[in-house]
Amino acid sequence: MKLTDISTIKKLFEKNGFTFSKSLGQNFLINPSVCPNIAERGGAKEGVCALEIGTGVGVLTRELAARCERVTAVEIDERLKPILDETLADFDNVDVIFADVMKTDLAEIIAEKFGGRETIICANLPYYITSPVIMKVLESRLPISSMTVMVQKEAAERICAKTGTRECGAITYAVNYYSEPKTLFRVNRGSFMPSPNVDSTVIRLDIKKARPLSEREENILFSIIRAGFSQRRKQLVNPLSASLHATKAEIASLLENAQLSPTARAEELSLEDYIRLAKFIVESL
Ligand code: SAM
Repeated sequence: MKLTDISTIKKLFEKNGFTFSKSLGQNFLINPSVCPNIAERGGAKEGVCALEIGTGVGVLTRELAARCERVTAVEIDERLKPILDETLADFDNVDVIFADVMKTDLAEIIAEKFGGRETIICANLPYYITSPVIMKVLESRLPISSMTVMVQKEAAERICAKTGTRECGAITYAVNYYSEPKTLFRVNRGSFMPSPNVDSTVIRLDIKKARPLSEREENILFSIIRAGFSQRRKQLVNPLSASLHATKAEIASLLENAQLSPTARAEELSLEDYIRLAKFIVESL
């Protein structure tokens, strides 16, 4: 079954009365080289299990199932069930769970379905929840080795930016704290049906095995990053004094102790600077 063939997809849709939902970010891949490439470069192989987010008609799901030990996918749109029953019928190593990924306990799925085997995440993410999904996966510290996802080109540039530059956002720090991000390849808008107004990029986040901070320090780290970026044009002392309930003078002295300028803005600090600052804050609490 060739799921990148437009007439095959149209027939499946007509048979099942399916129409695209724009609000669910349903832009399905029709470029035949993209899904095999995501699966291969995302590390799908024998002995590895894959969690997919958002199956669409199952075009990437099939590529993962052909290479991996097991695949479990979470898809919100139950209207896709009869279509997936048909498109995934020749695989006995795939389950689809119909649920909202943001309300699903992914750690429980990984434990139940994959039982300790190496796990990867591969997905063509719905763009309206790209950052929340990535943050959920990272902050829940899932036992995965990597996450390979297609995201809007501009989101990829932000996620893979160097921390301490104007291109970065709060997500850049979280991604770099938990993983080593890299850009894999570009996918143009014509590769989808319907075609979106933006181009896409596939990125891979290799999850770090060890992290330098305790859980308490990590909580402080992300609360100061979030506070700083909520007012990224202001000097850090302002949002930090509000979020840490301290005076500006106290924050300025904390920054100086961590060898940081008291006039610095959120985007001027590297990840290492924030890590040092989080440690100082925890020590001084
Ligand atoms: N993997 C398919 C492909 O590449 O053609 C579909 C990708 S499409 C960009 C995103 C998919 O995510 C859609 O099937 C959509 O229904 C699903 N989706 C949207 N929001 C979701 C959510 N909150 N939880 C799970 N799946 C979701």
